Amino acid sequence: MEKVFKFGGASVKNADAIKNVKNIIQKYSDDKIIIVVSAMGKTTNALEEVYQNYIVEKKLNLQELMHEIVNFHVEVAAELDLNTALVKESLLSHIVIAEEKLKTKVGENDFIYDQIVSLGELFSTTMLNEYLNKSNLKSSWLDARTVLKTDSTYREGKVDFKETSALILNYITENKSHAQYIVTQGFIGADKDGYTTTLGREGSDYTAAIFAYSLDVKELTIWKDVPGILTADPKKFDNVEKLSRLSYSEAIEMTYYGAKVIHPKTIKPIQNKNIKLHVRSFQNPEYEGTIITSDGLLNYPPIVVVQNDMMLIQIFTKDFTFVAEDHLSQIFSKLNEHRIKMSTMRNSAISFTICVKNPGKERIANFMNDLGDNFSFDIFTDLQLLTVRYFQDALIKNLTKNKVILFEETMKYTIQLVVKPSLQLIEK
Ligand code: ASP
Ligand code: MG
Repeated sequence: MEKVFKFGGASVKNADAIKNVKNIIQKYSDDKIIIVVSAMGKTTNALEEVYQNYIVEKKLNLQELMHEIVNFHVEVAAELDLNTALVKESLLSHIVIAEEKLKTKVGENDFIYDQIVSLGELFSTTMLNEYLNKSNLKSSWLDARTVLKTDSTYREGKVDFKETSALILNYITENKSHAQYIVTQGFIGADKDGYTTTLGREGSDYTAAIFAYSLDVKELTIWKDVPGILTADPKKFDNVEKLSRLSYSEAIEMTYYGAKVIHPKTIKPIQNKNIKLHVRSFQNPEYEGTIITSDGLLNYPPIVVVQNDMMLIQIFTKDFTFVAEDHLSQIFSKLNEHRIKMSTMRNSAISFTICVKNPGKERIANFMNDLGDNFSFDIFTDLQLLTVRYFQDALIKNLTKNKVILFEETMKYTIQLVVKPSLQLIEK
């Protein structure tokens, strides 16, 4: 029986972390394990800088721009006692292929982004695969782009589930007799022309879910640097509890509202096949973690999700007519076109208010421009969106102390508040 494991960036951030991954997986020697891996540590952020330099400063030598990133990986390879010359050669070959792709198509920036930023996962998986084989664990490296097929929406590839599932299934059955471990990249895929696509930041969880779905496994394990799914971010709050169990629908709600533990798209495919999702700590692999299945807890404690860098956009009709369906449909279609994601919204007679993660000045300006002359806008930035599931009044009072509440929406189990982080800030 196959199992799917996902290891995020923190779990492969350096040589010790990679050794720890090996220690974990070798305990599962009876199963065939598909290991979906993110880029090492903060490599994706570093690659986003490379991409910026590539497009802004027109420094078009990718190998030169990637120099430090390659060196970092080679240093880790040395610490793992790998053949550094071979590792370096294979990292460089990924860059060369990316450069070729960049040359053969004059694409927009998002296309360029995907060819460059995808290198992080190609690098990390090359390293892990080499290390497992060197440690006598039979492992084979799967280029996710040969099985994970998406459309050409660069930076946000939409997965063709049918084709992808068939390809994954075919690959794994063909490989039956070979490696026990299959190491592959999270986050990346390819479109029908063979160009690399990415699934959106933090998309490796989603990749793992796609593999789990395609192989119809019983269980998917996401190994993380937290003991499981918590009731709030321990970096921001005291008294945080671990949730021992969670239902799929609760997990969908939490991640939809911005809880960072797992990528929001992860749950649906898992739920469709009733696959158990296990979130557990790679630092303490003997701990239980959180188990997500169709039934969760009977009573949940309050769950708090905080999202920073939010903005409220209040949209008015210039002629002071009511904001009606035709206006709303224009607004929604422009939001969609500019890929601005709404977290919450409300309409009143003469205005429509949305709360969005700040997508950057340029995107907002284009969105407003595109909506044309019939609308005017009020924009508030640097806000925080607090979402509390199973809220209690005392907790809300506490959470909003010294904060200005600009927007409030209460549903049966959920309250959402858009706040200005502190009074001082607004008085300045
Ligand atoms: N490496 C990618 C990122 O950091 C994908 C992932 O980690 O899930 O966004
Ligand atoms: Mg990552």
